[in-house]
Amino acid sequence: MAAHGLAWIPYQPLLLGLLLIQQTAASLPEDAVTNLREYLRIKTVHPQPDYEAAKEFLVAYGKNLTLEVDVMEFVSGDPVILMTWKGSNPEASSILLNSHMDVVPVEQVKWRHDAFEAVREPSGDIVGRGSQDMKCVGIQYLEAIRKLQAKVFKPVRSVHVLFVPDEEIGGHDGMERFIASEKFSDIQVGVALDEGLASPTADYRVFYGERTLWWLSIKAVGAPGHGSKLFDGSAAENLLKSLALISAYREEEFNAYKSGEAAEAEVTSINLSFLKAGTPSPSGFVMNLQPSEAEAGFDIRIPPSADAEDLERRIREEWAPVERNMTYEFLQKNVYRSVSAEPLVTPFDVSNPWWAVFATAVEKTGVKLSKPEIFPAATDGRYLRYKDFPVIGFSPMRETPVLLHDHNEFLNEGVFLEGVDAYESIIAALSTFDGADGPSYALREEL
Ligand SMILES: [Zn+2]
Repeated sequence: MAAHGLAWIPYQPLLLGLLLIQQTAASLPEDAVTNLREYLRIKTVHPQPDYEAAKEFLVAYGKNLTLEVDVMEFVSGDPVILMTWKGSNPEASSILLNSHMDVVPVEQVKWRHDAFEAVREPSGDIVGRGSQDMKCVGIQYLEAIRKLQAKVFKPVRSVHVLFVPDEEIGGHDGMERFIASEKFSDIQVGVALDEGLASPTADYRVFYGERTLWWLSIKAVGAPGHGSKLFDGSAAENLLKSLALISAYREEEFNAYKSGEAAEAEVTSINLSFLKAGTPSPSGFVMNLQPSEAEAGFDIRIPPSADAEDLERRIREEWAPVERNMTYEFLQKNVYRSVSAEPLVTPFDVSNPWWAVFATAVEKTGVKLSKPEIFPAATDGRYLRYKDFPVIGFSPMRETPVLLHDHNEFLNEGVFLEGVDAYESIIAALSTFDGADGPSYALREEL
């Protein structure tokens, strides 16, 4: 674990007069680790997340930091909480720091402690669902603000800390609605930060895009027949032909990853989620009957570099062609182009000045950033990228195994506190950045 605390404080001498701004209410213990553990104990776990308790906790937290706190409910029971640290220049575009409040379920028997007790082990590891994904980040944002306030730092651009519900089930009633709201237009976001992943190495990982999610179901029909009969065009035969083609495609993509030619998130993954066919009987299935319908479902993840239009053509013409009596349906189909028809990626070249400000701020803390990556799964960042906002995916957890959605998810308190320092540096730099107001997509190079 690296030392905590920043050596650089360029802004400190400037604003001594504002020393007293946040020394009022102190209803929460001003201890970052205590606050993290308390947040982890709130069961915002699907299928019935306790957002009410999270809301109460976060609203008190924001007020304790003298932030403006706005609670919006676009869908009843799904609060979106926006905290604002006002900048001195309300005309400048703002900084949005996003995190989701919800977590995925646990298989409690596989955990070494209660997943919602936030047990702190003697090593300093805090074990709990959400310790990596991503309650840690929400608390880090707020604790970084607390440290900046203690140093009398004053942002020029407004800093918004956003807590959204339902990311783990698609974000439709959370981030998607918020982005469509008037409030979102009002805050004039310049750049957003959202979740990344833990890094097992000494460097931080950072993400500039994510794979697009499609859930596909393909269905074949055919004449039923006696189990002994050989005939063309049975439902099972039609579906099996598709499965063979899909397997070959999957193998080709997987080989590119296995050979080291591409990273896992740079290839298209297609995995079978369900297979459905057969006529049920009390003891299982009727064995001497060929079914008239057969169906298969797939989870597909498409990197921004892939040709999604071609993949769709393949589905239509090869994997579920009408000539083989097949149909297909997308159970979920996320977009893969922004409103301005750009790939859903945030540029990290000269066209995006925010990126350089971010990277320099991280490196000032003495930790290196590894090469920008594509996030392997979906995050709420896609809603922002869809509208062409730059989003940097970053969860400062280094020397930590990737345990999101896994048993015994944990984060070491030293790593967590180091992450607070990272955000302190990042928030200070982004909120005082006086360069161009956002990336110029015209300058964007091919990524
Ligand atoms: Zn997450």
